[in-house]
Parts: sequence; structure tokens; C-alpha cells
Amino acid sequence: MKTKILVVEDELSISELIKFNLEKSGYEVVVADTGTMALELVEQFTYSLMLLDLMLPGVDGLEVCRKVKLNNKTASLPIIMLTARNEEIDKIIGLELGADDYMTKPFDLHELLARIEANLKRTSNTSCQNDTLTYRDIEINNSLVYIKEVLVPFTSTELKILRLLLQYPQKIFSKQNLYESIWNETYAYDDDTINTHISHIRKKIKAITNEDYIQTIWGIGYKIK
Ligand code: CA
Repeated sequence: MKTKILVVEDELSISELIKFNLEKSGYEVVVADTGTMALELVEQFTYSLMLLDLMLPGVDGLEVCRKVKLNNKTASLPIIMLTARNEEIDKIIGLELGADDYMTKPFDLHELLARIEANLKRTSNTSCQNDTLTYRDIEINNSLVYIKEVLVPFTSTELKILRLLLQYPQKIFSKQNLYESIWNETYAYDDDTINTHISHIRKKIKAITNEDYIQTIWGIGYKIK
């Protein structure tokens, strides 16, 4: 069975270009040209990934992303947002909508395919961990995170970090530990990536529990409280 990708894009020239290239790479492609149509399609059918344009007439990409990530049924669908400008990427990250990846138009088609593959691979790794992990008020059920029984959207990276911390509540993880376990790459010491993800995870948990679940061990790393 072919991997099915939903492309949400209102500009026909772009959606046709993407469709043509994805099909050439063996994917099945469905195009939606409005946000409303995209939301109806994900409700009715199952897709492996969504490519989502930010600027859409009517319901825009931000709203589509928010709705998909807040819906139990679709929350784990990987979303790559397509935007026209870098500032828009800042806006998406700022809003913490839970998109899994971002690309600026015009994009290189090889890079788009590489990102699609990376995101599909990441999801299939996650879904293999077919278990429920509970720690105090937090429950991770497959790729869904519930805090006090409220479904909270987490990006796949945040989910991986949280899962790792919760699996070993006694352990202190250094930034290097976390970085190398999550990305399988050698840690770059000036990298603030981990700090940023940890601060997003903290905020999401605190918003509901009013508690800081992650302890910073100065000069060493992080551990769950
Ligand atoms: Ca557009």
C-alpha cells in the first residue's frame, strides 16, 4: 500500500508541482485547496503526513494545524508547514502549534522529499512504542500526551524528550545525553536546542498542573521531579 500524503495548498501551480514530484517518488497524493476541505478529509480518511500551506483562503494553515493537533483522532499526524517567509516560521514557532517541521517557499524539492521521509520515519519509530507511560498527572498514550486527562499537543521532539525523562524519573540527563538520544548526532556544545524544547515542555505542563515538573540541575542537566 502506498503512503498517503495530504497536500493543502491553494495555489494550483505549487500543488501540482508537489503532487507530480511526490507521485514520482512513489507516494499517493491527495490535494485540498482550502483549510475546510483539509479538515474534512483528515476527519474521514487516514493520511501518513500533511503538507500544509500557511496562507489559505478562509480557514488558514495555523487554524488547520491547531485543530488537527487538538483532535484526538488526528493529533499524531505529522505536519510540515509551508510558509512564504521566514518571519512566518517565527510566528508558527511562537504560537507553538505543534507542527512537526517547517519549510520556506520557494523550497528545493529534494529537501522537501528528504524532510517528508525523515518525518515519516520518526512517526513510525514513535508508533512502535505502543505503550502507555504514566507519571503523576502525565500520561503518554502512544504519541498523545494527556496532562490531568487533558490532551495537550506536543511536537514529536518534545514528546521524545518527555518520554525519555518520564521513563527514568530518578536519572539526571545531561544536555549531551538528551541531544544524542533524541537526534542520534554528536552534541554541539553551544546548541540551545535542548533548552528551547525543555522550556516549551515545562510551559505546557505548568499551564495545566501549575507545577514545574522538570528540575534543572545547574551545570549538569535536567531531571523529572
Ligand atoms: Ca497559499
